[in-house]
Amino acid sequence: MPTPLTSNAVVLRTTPFSDTSLIVRLFTEDFGKVSVIAKGARRPKQAAVSILQPPNHVAVWYSFKEGRDIQTLTKSEFVERYTGLSTQLAKGAAAMLIVEMLDRAVHDSDPHPILFRLITSTLRQVDQTEGDVTVLMNFYQLHLAKQLGFGAQLSSCGRCGRPMKEALFEPNTGTLLCPRCRSAEGIRLGRNALDYLQRLAATHISELSALELDRNTNKEVGNFLLNHLYYHVDGMTNLKSIKFWKQVSTT
Ligand SMILES: [Zn+2]
Repeated sequence: MPTPLTSNAVVLRTTPFSDTSLIVRLFTEDFGKVSVIAKGARRPKQAAVSILQPPNHVAVWYSFKEGRDIQTLTKSEFVERYTGLSTQLAKGAAAMLIVEMLDRAVHDSDPHPILFRLITSTLRQVDQTEGDVTVLMNFYQLHLAKQLGFGAQLSSCGRCGRPMKEALFEPNTGTLLCPRCRSAEGIRLGRNALDYLQRLAATHISELSALELDRNTNKEVGNFLLNHLYYHVDGMTNLKSIKFWKQVSTT
């Protein structure tokens, strides 16, 4: 017998199925990543088609059957509406990057309530901010890595353990090294960049506007955060949204 389940969720991806239905990948707060079919959602006058779009924060009701890859959605509604995302290209690009990264990084049916709070609070801030969304993306990527269990060790060298004032990220070992230990080529994190990352790790998301960055430091930080995720998450390098984000965020 199928079990009726309900949860809040973020829509990660939506694909048309048959003439009238949608397959929707959700990151649910209570059950982790789940795929559902929304039967008839693409018929005329169905509200579900606009509700079930990434990166919407929704509530879903579905019928769960053990062993089935795709569960059956029975109802969906908005929890909050991100009306500001379409007002700036960079906001829309950031929102797509947030959901695609999460989709790539988490496994099916592996709930992670803290990650759920991270994604919804980041989307809310991106939606509402009047400032630059880059700092929010830096925050998100740093904390995504931490919540997935591979947070960067920012204060001491990954090889000799000495405190670091600047560092080099070694892409083939995923380690931050002090200037003495570095051997191969890597991604440089100067004093400002390392200091900024440490402050980013310790600042609440609602206080981020205080963390301004010059362009060069921002480039170092962005480059490091992406490559850190590339090292730890399979398939992260080929996300379409990364390319788009890079285009719109550097102007
Ligand atoms: Zn060292």
